[in-house]
Amino acid sequence: MPNVTSNFIILDLEWNGHPDGKAAHDEAMPFEIIEIGAVKVSPSGDFLDEFQAYIRPQVYPKLHYKTRELLGITYKDLKNARTFPEVIEQFFTWCGRGYRFCTWGSMDLTEIQRNLSYYGISRYFTKPVLYYNLQQIFSLTQEEPGARTLQYAVKALNLPETRPYHDALDDAKYTAEVMQKLDLELILKNFSVDYYRHPQSKAEEIYLSYEDYSEFISREYTKREDLLRSHNVATLTCPLCGAKTNREVSWFSSNIKNYYCLGSCKRHGYVQGKLHLKRTADLHYFVIKTSRIVSATEANELLARYEDLNARKEAKKQAAKLAKRAKKASLLTRSIRKKTKEES
Ligand SMILES: [Zn+2]
Repeated sequence: MPNVTSNFIILDLEWNGHPDGKAAHDEAMPFEIIEIGAVKVSPSGDFLDEFQAYIRPQVYPKLHYKTRELLGITYKDLKNARTFPEVIEQFFTWCGRGYRFCTWGSMDLTEIQRNLSYYGISRYFTKPVLYYNLQQIFSLTQEEPGARTLQYAVKALNLPETRPYHDALDDAKYTAEVMQKLDLELILKNFSVDYYRHPQSKAEEIYLSYEDYSEFISREYTKREDLLRSHNVATLTCPLCGAKTNREVSWFSSNIKNYYCLGSCKRHGYVQGKLHLKRTADLHYFVIKTSRIVSATEANELLARYEDLNARKEAKKQAAKLAKRAKKASLLTRSIRKKTKEES
């Protein structure tokens, strides 16, 4: 976990895509960052400083009409701005040493890293980033789950709407104001991980512990089978006490990306394991494993799913067997008929 005495950097980015849309964009950088806005907040929640800079686009100088509409700017507004490598250096100098990122949503930290990679700048993010997704944390305070817009949260918390939205600095400020209204304890125990830079070695693999579940992020593997066979991936421990669970249902896949299993801890009851397979840009695999305490009802549902899948697999096998037998019979009939004809 990040150091609790370090500042929070509330970050908001604006980006632009190819003016002709997705089909034309550069795979290495589908979204080019054109504005960085950030607010620095102390560990106790006090506003310390702000940062704002436009960036002169190098890849998509013509702005997509949606960017122009949403941000209310044109290339003219950006043509005298500095380039991404220049702005980013100034930004990280401003961040100082030891800080924790907060964002509204899960996109910003991925996009900033993708833009850095595009320019071959690797010194700012050397491992997977832990951060606080305030959009997700805000949704925990609501009755219904699901992502809300920043504007929704500002209204729900009765914060004054004195500035427009969709300007990086204004949005960062609104996000900071929302953050000040949220319970700090709730924020601190609900950190997220950005997987853009996933673990590369066993030593970099990540173990995260939350209130009633734990998460494990594996290193990457070239082959899916090797990944699934790996000890760190296949074992299921109790998220509360860390003890190895007794296996009740072995790993089974519900689709190509997700696997489930069920274990039980002597002290804490049923534990559900979930593997979410992720594919990297160079077509390797890594996995996010979640181990969660579940009720007997939930455990039963998982068992039912496992049995249902098995029954369907068995039915498919039987159907294939019958089809094979029918084909054999029809071939035999044909050859007998042929022979009968030859004899007569
Ligand atoms: Zn336990």
